[in-house]
Amino acid sequence: MVVGGGLVGSSVAYELVTAGAEAILIDRHDPGRATDAGAGILSPETNMDTDHAFFSFACAAAHHYESLTNRLADDGVGDTGYAVTGSLLVAEREGDDPFMEDAVRLIETRSPGLAEELDSAEAIRRFPPLGPVRRALFNPAARRVDGRVLNAALRRAAVARGLRVVEAGATGLAVDRAGRRVKGVRTTAGAVRGDVVVLSGGAWSAEMASSLGTDIPISPLKGQIVHVSLPGSDSSAWPIVQPVLGFYLVPWPGGRIACGGTMEPQAGFDHRPTAQGVHQLLRECLRTAPGLAQATIVEIRVGSRPATADNRPLLGPFPGWPNVFVAAGHGAEGLLLGPYSALVVARLALGIEVAPWDQCRWQE
Ligand SMILES: Cc1cc2nc3c(=O)[nH]c(=O)nc-3n(C[C@H](O)[C@H](O)[C@H](O)COP(=O)(O)OP(=O)(O)OC[C@H]3O[C@@H](n4cnc5c(N)ncnc54)[C@H](O)[C@@H]3O)c2cc1C
Repeated sequence: MVVGGGLVGSSVAYELVTAGAEAILIDRHDPGRATDAGAGILSPETNMDTDHAFFSFACAAAHHYESLTNRLADDGVGDTGYAVTGSLLVAEREGDDPFMEDAVRLIETRSPGLAEELDSAEAIRRFPPLGPVRRALFNPAARRVDGRVLNAALRRAAVARGLRVVEAGATGLAVDRAGRRVKGVRTTAGAVRGDVVVLSGGAWSAEMASSLGTDIPISPLKGQIVHVSLPGSDSSAWPIVQPVLGFYLVPWPGGRIACGGTMEPQAGFDHRPTAQGVHQLLRECLRTAPGLAQATIVEIRVGSRPATADNRPLLGPFPGWPNVFVAAGHGAEGLLLGPYSALVVARLALGIEVAPWDQCRWQE
């Protein structure tokens, strides 16, 4: 049984049925589901986190996308919303220079020879709405994914392989306290029984833990993203733009550009777009890309990132409950990390050996 059907839960369910297990996915599709709002940037190479172990995991997660999307293509489920477009890390103002210098050094140390410096004119040629920049670093490996499209593709593939989906809220776990085992999940649509439970409820994951008498330290981190449209632009191959300080721009086919995202830890589960949030996003994104001034606003997406205190996901067996596993707490990186985390946790749940993720060792 998998509780939660965002990208992480759907990926866990897909891995379970692919490995031949019976699986049930319980999902109530809350408003503010992070997967539906996420910007979709998959670029561990330009992540400024200096933790070696995290880089290895994130890099393996990015590589996993290739095999996952190939498997989904073999499953014949259509669009996965995934594309390799590259990204531009840009410095716009004098004050950005030291941060850009640090970023260039870190990226070159970790992935020697990967990224290429471009001049301002070339950067604008690749992303036409961009204003003049002081420096631009092109990462050809950066990818983007539409979380909604990938989640739907995973669900279709998993259902075709036998997954049962219960569209309901899980309200608690049926536990055998003496045996320290979970026997099933209580839901608004009745009880569901199973041998193993994976908790993947995103920012709502803490709810389920109360049945187990232990906290899951995950809280919602609200993010707003504005989607604008430049009709007539062929933006499908434009790179992602990541100002070294500031908000990012993610281009999609058909002239759609996502500008995000706010970080609002005090907002709790309030998923309403706000004037201040939208003002902040538009002000910053138009400064970076003045060519978007006449773009029309098509949508504001709001979601709750499942945040942890140390910005690391919670993965693996739930302490003291051998048949309960957690795959949650991916914060601002869950579209990147989620499918790979799901593979790891599904294997742990099935007792299958987990291969080491060493294909992207930090280049010393
Ligand atoms: C504005 C924004 C921008 C982002 N940008 C990026 C990005 O560029 N790159 C990146 O990698 N990540 C990004 N993220 C982060 C990423 O979207 C999340 O980390 C990821 O989607 C989390 O997936 P999840 O499945 O854990 O949670 P969610 O997608 O939130 O899904 C959780 C699901 O569990 C269900 N659920 C919870 N409790 C229960 C219950 N008791 N019963 C039944 N169902 C339940 C919910 O209804 C929901 O459907 C962004 C997020 C936001 C909000």
